[in-house]
Amino acid sequence: MQTSIESSASTSSFTFERQKQVATALRTVLPANSVLFHAEDTTPYECDALAAYRQRPMVVALPENEEQVVAILNICRNLKVPIVPRGAGTGLSGGAVPIVDGVVLSTAKLNRIVKLDAYARTAVVQPGVRNLAISDAAAAHGLYYAPDPSSQIACTIGGNVAENSGGVHCLKYGLTIHNVMRVRMVTIEGEIVELGSTGLDAPGLDLLAVFIGSEGMLGIVTEVTVKLIPKPQQARVIMASFDDIVTSGNAVADVIAAGIIPAGLEMMDKTSVGTVEPFVHAGYDLDAAAILLCESDGTAEEVEEEIARMSAVLSSSGATKIEVSQSEEERLRFWSGRKNAFPAAARLSPDYYCMDGTIPRKCLAQVLLGIAEMERKYGLRCANVFHAGDGNLHPLIMFDANQPDELHRAELFGAEILELCVAVGGTITGEHGVGIEKINSMCVQFSPLEREAFFKVKYAFDPAFLLNPDKAIPTLQRCAEYGKMHVKRGEMKFPDLPRF
Ligand SMILES: Cc1cc2nc3c(=O)[nH]c(=O)nc-3n(C[C@H](O)[C@H](O)[C@H](O)COP(=O)(O)OP(=O)(O)OC[C@H]3O[C@@H](n4cnc5c(N)ncnc54)[C@H](O)[C@@H]3O)c2cc1C
Repeated sequence: MQTSIESSASTSSFTFERQKQVATALRTVLPANSVLFHAEDTTPYECDALAAYRQRPMVVALPENEEQVVAILNICRNLKVPIVPRGAGTGLSGGAVPIVDGVVLSTAKLNRIVKLDAYARTAVVQPGVRNLAISDAAAAHGLYYAPDPSSQIACTIGGNVAENSGGVHCLKYGLTIHNVMRVRMVTIEGEIVELGSTGLDAPGLDLLAVFIGSEGMLGIVTEVTVKLIPKPQQARVIMASFDDIVTSGNAVADVIAAGIIPAGLEMMDKTSVGTVEPFVHAGYDLDAAAILLCESDGTAEEVEEEIARMSAVLSSSGATKIEVSQSEEERLRFWSGRKNAFPAAARLSPDYYCMDGTIPRKCLAQVLLGIAEMERKYGLRCANVFHAGDGNLHPLIMFDANQPDELHRAELFGAEILELCVAVGGTITGEHGVGIEKINSMCVQFSPLEREAFFKVKYAFDPAFLLNPDKAIPTLQRCAEYGKMHVKRGEMKFPDLPRF
């Protein structure tokens, strides 16, 4: 436990006096062990799951209740200290990356399920509660929380709200925004505000929709009311193999065009199957160019009928092999490979850069072929494992940060994928947010007027720009610089200009 602020080492990026001032002020409202400032204590907070970018924060604050959150915000506002909220740090776009002279506000100690109402089918939870912990608690009542990011074992509901997170089952059950009824949050003014309601609608402007997905830039979430839904009686999954990527991409569009909304519709290409299979033994077809996992849930009759319809569509769309799970154990085994695909990427290379763009389903094949071309152009491998039914791509670009230039090439590769997504009518993000990772790509997607409107919303909530500043919305100057150094065929005009 840290006792003496005097013993903290100063850094070149902020003065020791400033660190002492902020930590001392925070210690007036928090227990001593909830204010971290020694390098060995703050280093674990230096990055999120986008580990290529790191910055140790000046101070970390760990509030235990909402009053302490209010007090932290009042202190930071008065001292003009930027604040970066942090849940579990599983974000893939750098949203929780600290600011050098700022405070990280961690919700790790706000981890209580406040109330679970099985009759109303809702749960009221603090922001640091893990996504999976909600479903675990609801399981005794035959209920669960539908949005299921693959990181659900670790990520928090506060982070899910900030990123509007999705998951395998969001195709049928919706994203965070469709499953959260009410958010209680603290503004930078220290005011407690409730957005949404426990009813079907709330009076006034729909600020809940503005807030969900705002990446920690508008307020600190202190409590969330989520919807719980009944666990389906049965679920089964089809594993379909394809001998080329174009056919598999078109099959995804065919399933939805046939009027079927599967409970999950995921694609894994040959690289990701080949990486995960020897590690997880999910039973995947190693000869396939791509596999699709299509889940059906409901009553036994509904599932049987839907599995038959989906199998027929997949066969006529060119599937070379179709297997249907025959037991819950087998269903979970089929999914285990998909769920472990990101960690398994470490078997191919020490680092990966996970992109997240969304495209119209009919363009899946075109974009996957484009990505294959980019692999050759940038000399880096890329595995594709993604929410195909939503058109939400997750190319995992493999690189070795110890090799000169590989991170840089991975960034260029990622930026070009996002440009392609925009070119075919898609967007630069699906569910991982913008953070610092995609801030330049915002310049490609949005006009200056649109970006100005985003800034106005930010300003309305946070006039001093203290909440997670410099994330998600690029300035005019940044876009002008990006325009000048715009990536074309791997060449940057001004590679010396700062990128973040
Ligand atoms: C292996 C892996 C798989 C993943 N799979 C998916 C997936 O399938 N779908 C998906 O959508 N995402 C996925 N993610 C991304 C990530 O898990 C989600 O974005 C998740 O919601 C982040 O939650 P977190 O608690 O880790 O938040 P953090 O990473 O700590 O923070 C994320 C953002 O939320 C803000 N924030 C956190 N808490 C609060 C709060 N209380 N108030 C205000 N702002 C806050 C932060 O400032 C930051 O901007 C995956 C990540 C990994 C590593």
